[in-house]
Amino acid sequence: MPKPKVIETLDAFKAEVRNNEKDAMLLMAKRWNAVERGLDAQIAALTQEIDALRAIDKLPTANQLYRMERYKTLLAQTQREVGQYERFAQGEIERGQREYFALGNDAAQAMLRDLTPAGVNINFNRLPVDAVNNMIGYCKDGAPLFSVLKERALYPDAIDGLTTQLVNAMALGFNPRKTARLMKDGLAQGLTKALVIARTEQLRAFREASFQNYNKNSDIVKGWVWHSALGTRTCAACYAMHGTIHPLDERLEDHPSGRCAMIPISKGWKELGYDVPDTNPTIPSGEEEFAKLDEQQQLGVLGKGRYELYKAGKLDFGKLATFTDDKVWGRSLRIAPLGDIGGKLPVPTTGLLYHPNKLDTENIIERNIDALKYATGHPREDAEKMLNDAVDKLQDVVNNNKLAVHSPPDAAKMILQDGRFKTQFETGTSKGKLSFTDRAIAAEKGLGIPQNVSNELRPIHGLVKEGKCNAMDYGKVQWVFKDTVRERTTVTFGNSLGGMHAGIQQGAPINKVNGAVFEGAGRIYDFVESGRIPKYIEIQIQGPVKLDDVAEILILKSQKGMPDADWVYNEAKRLGIPVNWVGNF
Ligand SMILES: [Zn+2]
Repeated sequence: MPKPKVIETLDAFKAEVRNNEKDAMLLMAKRWNAVERGLDAQIAALTQEIDALRAIDKLPTANQLYRMERYKTLLAQTQREVGQYERFAQGEIERGQREYFALGNDAAQAMLRDLTPAGVNINFNRLPVDAVNNMIGYCKDGAPLFSVLKERALYPDAIDGLTTQLVNAMALGFNPRKTARLMKDGLAQGLTKALVIARTEQLRAFREASFQNYNKNSDIVKGWVWHSALGTRTCAACYAMHGTIHPLDERLEDHPSGRCAMIPISKGWKELGYDVPDTNPTIPSGEEEFAKLDEQQQLGVLGKGRYELYKAGKLDFGKLATFTDDKVWGRSLRIAPLGDIGGKLPVPTTGLLYHPNKLDTENIIERNIDALKYATGHPREDAEKMLNDAVDKLQDVVNNNKLAVHSPPDAAKMILQDGRFKTQFETGTSKGKLSFTDRAIAAEKGLGIPQNVSNELRPIHGLVKEGKCNAMDYGKVQWVFKDTVRERTTVTFGNSLGGMHAGIQQGAPINKVNGAVFEGAGRIYDFVESGRIPKYIEIQIQGPVKLDDVAEILILKSQKGMPDADWVYNEAKRLGIPVNWVGNF
C-alpha cells in the first residue's frame, strides 16, 4: 500500500527537522568545550591539591572536600562558565524555535493541501507573522528556558556530575590527570540537559505550529491524529498513542525529546458541500504497526515484562501510554508501569530477591579494614575489631529503630490512590546526584539488581528513622513500615549512591549487617569515634511495597488545612491505616 500523501509530506518535513537538528546539536556540543577550557586551571589545581593530601595520608572525606577553598572556587567558576553557556544556548534554542515553528507552519499548510481533493479550491487561513513570538524563549509552562530554579538551570547538573566523578575518583585513588578527565565527563551532564531542553522545546514549536494552523482552519479541520516515528527506537508509549484521534483543542503532549507529530483530519467533504468522497487517510493503529516488527525489535521496544504479556495475548496495548504531571516538563507522556497494565509482578513478597555479589562483599570489607589500618596507624587486628564494632553498633541501631519513607503530600496522595509505592525510576523524581543510568549501575554493583530490570521491580528507598531526623526535605509525610518488611530489606550507611556506583560500598541484609555497608575509613571512623547515631542510614526495600506494609502514617502539623495533606489524612482513616498529625518526625 503506498503511503498516503499527507504522511509523505510529514516525513519529508521531519527529515528536514532531523537534518537541521544534527547541525544545531553539534554546535551546542562544540561550544561546551569552552566551558571545559574555562575550568581547566581550577580543576588541575584542585586535583593536584587532593593528590598532595593523599600523599601525606590526609585524603579528604567527601564532607571535607565540600569545605575546601579550591573546591568552592571551582564551583563558583563553574557557575559563571555554565551561566555564559546558558546565554549562548538560549540564543540557539530561540533560533531553533523560530526555525521549527516556520517548518511546522509550512508542514501544516502542506498537509492541509494534501487533504484537499482535486478540483476543490480552498484558501486555508494562515497564521499571523508574529504567531511564533509568544513561545520564543519559553517552556511549555511559560517559564523561561533557563532560570535560577534547579529544574531550569544547567549548573546544578554540571556540578552534580563533576562532584560525583571527583568523589569516586578520590575513593579509587586515581591520578590527577585521570581524575580531571572524569570530572569533565561528569560536568557534561550540564550539556546533556541543555540538549534535552533544546530538542524538547524546538520540537514543541513544530507541533505548536500544527496546533495553531488546524485551529485557524476549524471550518475544515475537525481534529488530528497522533503520529509516531514507529522505529525500533520509538518507545512503547508512543506506539500506543500512534493512530489515536484527538479533538482540535487538545495539544499533543509528548515526553521530553519526543518526536511525535499531529496529522490533520478534515471534516467530510460532503458535509462541506462538495460532491467528493472523504480524503482522510486510513492510519493503522500503533498496535497494528507494532505487530509488523520482528520479535527482537518488539522485545526491544516493550522490555521483558511487557513483552511477555504481549506474547501471552494479555497486553491491553492502548494502556501502555499514560500521562503524568512532571515537575520540569509539565503534563508528559510516559510508559505505564507493568503493575498498572495487568502485568503480574514476578516478585516474592518475602525474602531478598537480589543479593550483592559475595566476593565483592569480602573485597570491600578487606578494603575497609585496610583503610582503617592506614587511617589509624593501628595494626590490622585492631582495624578489624574497629570495623566489627561499627557493624555491631549499626546492627543495634537498625534493630531498635523504625523503617520509614518520606514523601511530599501530593506524592502521598498518589501512593494511597495506587495502593503501592512507586520506585524512583517510575516516578522519575529523585533528589540525588546521579543520572538514572548511573543509578542503575550503582544498584547493580551495590545491591545486585540487574540493570535491565523493569522499573517497578526496583527497590523502594527509605531510611532508618531514629529520633528527630533530618530527612524532612524528602517530604512532610512519613510512612512507617511494619517489621515484616525487614526480611526483604537491605541497608547502607550514609548516602550511598556514589559509593555503590564506584563499587566500594554495598547494601547488606538489614537482619545481618556487614562491613561492606560503609564507604571508606572516614565513615567508619566517625561512627565508632563519635559514638553518635548517624543521621542517614538508608534502606532499600525489595519487592512491591504496598499499603499492607505500612504500620503508620505521620503528617507534619504544619500541613493541616492543606488540601493534599487533609486528603491523605482522611483517606488513610478511611482505609484503616493509623494516621497522626505530629509536630516533627
Ligand atoms: Zn516515546
